[in-house]
Amino acid sequence: MYQRDQLYIDGKWTTPTGTDTLTIKNSATQEPIGVVTLGTSVDVERAVESAANAQPAWAALSPDERAGYLSAVSEQLSARMTELVDLFCQEVGIIRPQAEAFQGLAASLYSSYGERAKRFEWTQQLDNSTLAFEPIGVVGAITPWNFPLLLMSIKVAPALAAGNTVVLKPAEIAPLTGYLLAEAIDAAGLPPGVFNLVIGTGAEAGEALVTDPLVDMISFVGSTAVGKRISALASETVKRVSLELGGKSALVALEDADLEAAIRAGMDSVTTANGQGCACLTRVIVPRGQLEAAVGLAEKYLAGIKVGDPQEAGTTVGPMASEAHRKRVEGYIETGISEGARVVGGGPGLPDGIDAGNFVRPTVFVVDDSKATIAQEEIFGPVQVIIPHDGEADAIRIANDSVYGLAGAVYGADVVRAERVARALRTGKVDINGITFDPDAPFGGYRQSGNGKMYGDKGFEEFLEIKTLSKLS
Ligand code: NAD
Repeated sequence: MYQRDQLYIDGKWTTPTGTDTLTIKNSATQEPIGVVTLGTSVDVERAVESAANAQPAWAALSPDERAGYLSAVSEQLSARMTELVDLFCQEVGIIRPQAEAFQGLAASLYSSYGERAKRFEWTQQLDNSTLAFEPIGVVGAITPWNFPLLLMSIKVAPALAAGNTVVLKPAEIAPLTGYLLAEAIDAAGLPPGVFNLVIGTGAEAGEALVTDPLVDMISFVGSTAVGKRISALASETVKRVSLELGGKSALVALEDADLEAAIRAGMDSVTTANGQGCACLTRVIVPRGQLEAAVGLAEKYLAGIKVGDPQEAGTTVGPMASEAHRKRVEGYIETGISEGARVVGGGPGLPDGIDAGNFVRPTVFVVDDSKATIAQEEIFGPVQVIIPHDGEADAIRIANDSVYGLAGAVYGADVVRAERVARALRTGKVDINGITFDPDAPFGGYRQSGNGKMYGDKGFEEFLEIKTLSKLS
């Protein structure tokens, strides 16, 4: 049981000014696994002051020196990998093999962004001007609960490598991982104030960070609704705001697609991380003439799912992260039914053989109307929606019928045509005939999925200002 009653500010574990506590529960068993004391706006102010004081000296270090510190953070995290994996399974409900893969990637980001900073061209020459790349200053990072360490790290690592200092406010639903990250950074010996951790609610600690005039940039990952609120608040101080928001991504199967591979990819996608992922392919758009074949394949996939304890070998889908989130996902399943969607499998209630925990039944629907609530809104659970299309143009129309634009996929034997369809999708990433993740390629949304880019060089350059030096000769 974790007792966390301090925040990491100015290189020290510090007692918060607030006394409110939150109990964090194991998502599979609902047993308490930790109690945290929440920080207040006063704690945020202190953390920001410390970050602002530390920033000039951190920026003055060479990229090599910063990379040395960051590589030590990767080592510290790797040394605590078993605990980090356990905690990910307990806080969020993700199954163990996936937890291992994502935590490993998260730990590696500190050393890899250190290396990027070392090889980056900090001064670039145009014909008549010199471009000087500089850190932005103090970065406020606000992150969600679904991949706690990965999403903290994809902000903290490049921000620090670029010479910024950071105040991190993780999600209060899964905050425990944040303390382990702070301990790793402390053990790596980063100078005081370079990294600060404030655990608190969005309404208090989050808004205090967004409105603080000493914060130069807010780097946010979370829901579109909160992203809009942050944009509005940050506009008062004209901060740079980078937003990575929600999604309702589509997989388009063309007439010549390997339908079995396409349905498997769609189902894998909504069951990875139990469907609690921003880029899950939550709409599968299939040729109308192949709808029943697609339904049969989805039924078969559902029959092979094993819902259960995320730590147990053989489990393929774990619980939702919290009771509130379980209710939300089940609410969408009920909405699908009440709006007349066809239920291929699943439905409301607990899965067979499970009588406690935040579990839902993996569910597949068919709808003919892409305006149906379950085809428009982000459900964030193991729920798939199959929609028939009447040819290439119709498939593109349905896929683009969304306020979101995060990811997508196209399956089709004619790869020239598949790429043409991929280019017509208004999203930041499209996979063709297979789902991959490239940590060197930028990842970010179009439209209401956000305006930022994470990963690769673009994810580093997000944290830089560009100064143009022009000399009269
Ligand atoms: P959320 O928006 O509810 O919360 C995210 C963070 O914002 C939390 O730390 C929360 O405390 C904070 N917050 C809440 N209200 C705030 C306010 N008024 N001011 C400042 N901060 C505030 O999101 P969530 O439920 O934690 O995460 C799920 C969402 O995140 C989904 O929509 C998902 O698609 C999205 N997400 C996007 C990406 C991406 O890369 N685009 C990645 C992961 C998750």
